Amino acid sequence: MAKGYLGRVLNVDLSNRKIGASELPEEAVLRKFNGGYGLGLNYLMDQIKPGTGPFDRNCPLIFFTGPLTATAAPAATNLTAISINGDNEFTAARSHTHGFFGVNLKWAGYDGIILTGRCEEEPLYLLITEDKVELKSAKHLWGKDTYETQDLLMNQYGLKKPGGSVLAIGPAGENLVGGAMICNDRNHSFSHSAMGMVMGWKRLKAMVVSGKSKPMPLADPEKFKRIGEKWRSVVLDGSVAAVVAGGAIPKSEMQGLKDMGLLTHNNFSGEPFPEYAIGMSKNDIKPQPCWGCPIGCAYRIEILHGPEKGLVAYPCGGAENMEGVGSNIGIADPGTNHALLDMCDRYGMESGHVGCSIGVAVEAYQRGILTKKDTDGLELEFGNAETMKKLIRKIAYREGLGDLLSKGPKRAADILGLPGSAVHIKGSSMNNHDWRSGWGTLLGQAVGTGSGWLSGGCDTFGNEPSVGYPEKLPPDDWRGQAASIKATSEYKIWAADCAGMCWFGVWGVKGGADLVAEAISAATGWDFSKQEGLKVGARVITMERVFALERGLTPEDDYKLSERLFEPPKYGPAKGKSIRPHLEGMIREYYELKGWDRKTGKPWRSTLDDLDLGHLSKKIWAE
Ligand code: SF4
Repeated sequence: MAKGYLGRVLNVDLSNRKIGASELPEEAVLRKFNGGYGLGLNYLMDQIKPGTGPFDRNCPLIFFTGPLTATAAPAATNLTAISINGDNEFTAARSHTHGFFGVNLKWAGYDGIILTGRCEEEPLYLLITEDKVELKSAKHLWGKDTYETQDLLMNQYGLKKPGGSVLAIGPAGENLVGGAMICNDRNHSFSHSAMGMVMGWKRLKAMVVSGKSKPMPLADPEKFKRIGEKWRSVVLDGSVAAVVAGGAIPKSEMQGLKDMGLLTHNNFSGEPFPEYAIGMSKNDIKPQPCWGCPIGCAYRIEILHGPEKGLVAYPCGGAENMEGVGSNIGIADPGTNHALLDMCDRYGMESGHVGCSIGVAVEAYQRGILTKKDTDGLELEFGNAETMKKLIRKIAYREGLGDLLSKGPKRAADILGLPGSAVHIKGSSMNNHDWRSGWGTLLGQAVGTGSGWLSGGCDTFGNEPSVGYPEKLPPDDWRGQAASIKATSEYKIWAADCAGMCWFGVWGVKGGADLVAEAISAATGWDFSKQEGLKVGARVITMERVFALERGLTPEDDYKLSERLFEPPKYGPAKGKSIRPHLEGMIREYYELKGWDRKTGKPWRSTLDDLDLGHLSKKIWAE
């Protein structure tokens, strides 16, 4: 077994309450996928048949770390979850978290976990330590929110960060709500692809892990230390991490997003919203860094002013979580925004999914499609905090109108006969910034099959110097975006979701791709180059494509953005301009650069062969 890995995967058959461990695949497979999403997707494609859905007993819920997780690289905290997406019928579910869970999993001696089956008789939770792994009754936890569950289990086992971590679903996961998350360590979550719904259907309430802090087995620890120090010296130098470090997002009052025209407003239909988040920096904001992270984007906020004075919330540091139940539903007050976000985090639902579903409902109400009879007397309007609180609760418990909205924006809008009001990507909620003001990133969303994920791109938050983009691209120009999306998404999928880094540890970092490759070499003992790493990214994205094509994805699913995303934005650099006339050409160019058929979007046989994926050819091409 190569160094950098523990070599063991925890296998848990929930239906039969059987627990065992298996070995990681052979070294050649590890080198091909590194870990995380690549390894998990490879397992998923090996194990399941095309007709398998997220609510089948043999649909696995997989968690993998990467070879850099729990090392001295900065922000080496990634744990990626892989399954089948509950928000649509054809994409793999991909989501990742940070915090302390993945690190503790490695300290406990495992590279990953594969859960199969379903807890039949009663809900359970899984306890993982270095000495034992047990399934235990979660009857007393069922119904509790994600924070209550985390606190109860941490206290029960006497755990404190960093030497312990709990991940849990809340009522939304239990109730199979679309967009349900799995949440951990208060500030973190597997937010996308409805992972919480898959775990909820399995009736696994939580996982507790505790390991003792220890150095990872590395091929060349001294060399790794030098690389880690060099990396730490540049990680905040002009990178995207600098924009989020030390809880900078709330301290900035979202001014950067406003300047870039990326702030969503009233379900992507509003005018500029300058009053949003004003006063946010006047609250008590304390960074909550993940294990070993010098960036510290996550934060604790105590609201000191306004109607929610006294509220304490624990958001992660990206801003899209705030927009979903803030500007996107017309909420400007920072305290109210955090109160609504706190509800979503406690119920375990992704706020963008919730905010876009609420947007559909408000528009349906404005048009008289929904009336007070349908809303239990609620008057639906953007910006009404009390109504929003009631709606969020209804969604988590699928009560009344909440049952319809729990299906997500696309399904709810289709049922209401208002498809044009839904903002989504292939049925999943889009990660919530207004990408109409960033055509590269919007292209990345359109062609992405990971669902609801921020794609690569160099036109919004940052450049990507280590893969050929020292400067940002114009956000409202189609030229060059396809090539940049190819380069940056291959880098990010590899460095973050396969190698085990947080995005902020690699995004826009000078020499980032070289540092990741050098670190993998020092960890594993392989002579691993940046080119080999980028090929891992290309391989995994193409494999993800095959997975989706086999399940019915067509190029039309890429072209047909939700109608709202074709409407010209009312502010920002792309004001008055739509990507519509350019998108199909951009997508065809992207296909060609990837070695996918320009018309059908299928990876050519030669592309599959080049990426050592020739065995997948029969899944999409007739013999
Ligand atoms: S940058 Fe943020 S999410 Fe990433 S490891 Fe650091 S604190 Fe965690």
